Amino acid sequence: MFRSQRVRSAFVAGVLVVSMLAGTGCQKSTDSKETTKSRSESLEQVDTSLESGSSEKQESSSEKPESTDLTSNESYGDEEFKQEALKLAQELGVKEDELHGQYGLFIKYIDCIDQNTEIGTLKDYVLHLFPVVADHLKPEDESYFFQNLSELRAEIGETQTPSAAEFYPGSNLVLINGNGENGESGASYSIMYHELMHFIDFSIGGDYRSNVYYTGTRFAHGEELTDKEWENCISVETDFITEGGADYYAGKYYRKTTEGYNTPASFLSGIEWIYGEETADRLFFSSDSTMEFILLLEDAGISDQKIVDILRTCNFETYGSNQLPEIPVRMEDVLVDLYESKKGSGWKEDKVFMQILNEIHAWTIEDYPFAREELKTLLLDYPAMEKMSQNVLSQIDQRTSQELIRFFKLILLDGKPYLAADLFTSYEFDRNEAISLIVEYDFDQEKVISYEYYVPDYPKWII
Ligand SMILES: [Zn+2]
Repeated sequence: MFRSQRVRSAFVAGVLVVSMLAGTGCQKSTDSKETTKSRSESLEQVDTSLESGSSEKQESSSEKPESTDLTSNESYGDEEFKQEALKLAQELGVKEDELHGQYGLFIKYIDCIDQNTEIGTLKDYVLHLFPVVADHLKPEDESYFFQNLSELRAEIGETQTPSAAEFYPGSNLVLINGNGENGESGASYSIMYHELMHFIDFSIGGDYRSNVYYTGTRFAHGEELTDKEWENCISVETDFITEGGADYYAGKYYRKTTEGYNTPASFLSGIEWIYGEETADRLFFSSDSTMEFILLLEDAGISDQKIVDILRTCNFETYGSNQLPEIPVRMEDVLVDLYESKKGSGWKEDKVFMQILNEIHAWTIEDYPFAREELKTLLLDYPAMEKMSQNVLSQIDQRTSQELIRFFKLILLDGKPYLAADLFTSYEFDRNEAISLIVEYDFDQEKVISYEYYVPDYPKWII
């Protein structure tokens, strides 16, 4: 179907462009300590703060330590900042609830954007990126983040892949495909926020980055390897967190749906459902996503070799171009392992969790064996998921002519599960048209409680 293909290609193709390291037989670089310089060449993300081992994130305004350039008797949230920030926000068309109480930070954010002479119409998007920044930027990472923000820009040009847009971390560039279907639309809005989530991913967690390798006996960052270990190590990556996370958080903040990198985004829903928001946030926003995920799997008692196979299978399910490992590990099995490790054996009765497994199962690229054979018969396939969506839709009174793009998927908003689906939008761009349908749902009774057609606050300029 033409419309479906159009939208799908637009979403799926939004990629992060980085040079990929060879999967095997790693070469020790002359500078094995990969720091800021090489970060643009690496998908792996390393944060020295990992040593603290803390999963706690300081997010609330009351806990946020002072910035170094504010005097000691001032802190974010003080009245003087508040008044100035609110005035600024009003002038710029930013709502008060987008500030998340981070008034001082907002003033600095706007000041930085104003100094960026290249930002152009991308500014309209970046202004509304602030809630993500307010929620996830730590004071110690501000200077690196603002340095990147001061260089952020968008261009229309020739993309390396046949994608709608690409993000280049090294140059903080959003490149929009000049041959693509550019123009004002709900899809363009979604693509831009997907790419800006890549910008956030590569700038919000600090400047130190390092690849992660498996030596045959341990996982380690490049600078920790011995000369001997360099000879036989393989690099490991988490593309599925990079792409799935960009989709996941663009969904949470801007679209209220996840629809693009389907399986990895659903997988992250599963992680959040099992472990909570902080863990999902840490996996994506940390600059050490790969090691964070490895530690999560190790904590669940999963063996090193299986971890390697899991990472490779998940990456395959993200791009479809990587090779599957000899023993692929189904994402559904991984989530059940993690569920049992963290929450116990009741996963089959957990309807929200089963919804997540169904989404992954319905969208998995290739059919390879389950570790738990019962999952094959237990889980719904694509037609069954469409049927489920029809059942949900039949309970909704105020139907519009807009059809669903695929089936309803789970989204966790402030920790609460909803069903949500992207909607086809008109060819003629309409700022009042909904882009998604969000359903408050009783998963146990399979009943719609309430619903909302979501109309975003579009920026002034869409492209
Ligand atoms: Zn992407």
